Amino acid sequence: MLVGCHGLVWSGSFDPEGFEFALGNTKAVGFDLLEIPLLDPYAMEPEALRVIQQSYGLPVTASLAQSRDSDITSEDLACVKAGEAKIMHALTVLRALGGKYLVGAMFGELRKYPEPFTERARANGQAVMRNVVDAASEAGITIGIEVVNRYESNLLNTARQALDYIDEVGKSALTVHLDTYHMNIEECDLFTPVLECGERLGYVHIGESHRGYLGSGSVNFTEFFHALNSIGYDGPVVFETF
Ligand code: MN
Repeated sequence: MLVGCHGLVWSGSFDPEGFEFALGNTKAVGFDLLEIPLLDPYAMEPEALRVIQQSYGLPVTASLAQSRDSDITSEDLACVKAGEAKIMHALTVLRALGGKYLVGAMFGELRKYPEPFTERARANGQAVMRNVVDAASEAGITIGIEVVNRYESNLLNTARQALDYIDEVGKSALTVHLDTYHMNIEECDLFTPVLECGERLGYVHIGESHRGYLGSGSVNFTEFFHALNSIGYDGPVVFETF
C-alpha cells in the first residue's frame, strides 16, 4: 500500500515552483507519493516538472475534474469532445511524469446540478470513458472514477452507482476511486461499499468529515481500514485536505 499526500495540502498552483514545494515537502514528511490536481492540464509544463520529479525520485499520481465547457456527461457534443481531449491531455502530462494513476471525478463538472442527467448525456460520457480507458491502458495508466457527494455531481454518488456505470462502459480496466469524505455523506456505512467494489477498487482518498486533521471529525477510519484489509487492497491511499 502506498500512502500519498494530495498536492493541495501544500500549494494552490502546480507551476514548477509550486510543484517542487509540494513534492519536496511530501517527501520530507515521509509520504510515498504526491497526487497532483490537474486544475488546468493545458497549463502544466510536463518537461520542467519531469526534471524536478526525477531529482526527488518521488512517484506522482494525478487527479482531474471537468469544467462547465468540458463536461462529458452532457448533451452538448462540443462539451463532450472538449472533455475527452482534456482527459487525453491529462494522460500525456501524467505519462511524462511516469505516473500510473489518473483519478477524480473526470466524468463531469464538480458542481451541484439542479436537474438529473439525461440518458443521452450519460451515454455520451460513457463513450468517452471507453476511449480514454483504452488510451490509458496503452500508457500503463489506471483510471479511477471518483464517487463524490450529491453537491458535487448528479451522476456518481455511491460506490454501487459507480460499479453500474463501469459495467455499462464495459471496460474492466476502469476502476472505482472512493473518498471517505464523500462516503461519509452518501453511503450507509464505510464497510459495505468497499466490499462491493472488491478488486475493482483502484484508488482511495482519506479525508475527514470536515476535511481537517484525521481523527478530529466523525469518519470511522477503523471501519474503513478493516474493509480495505478485508479485500486485500494494495493500491494508493491518499490524504486529501486543502
Ligand atoms: Mn477526493
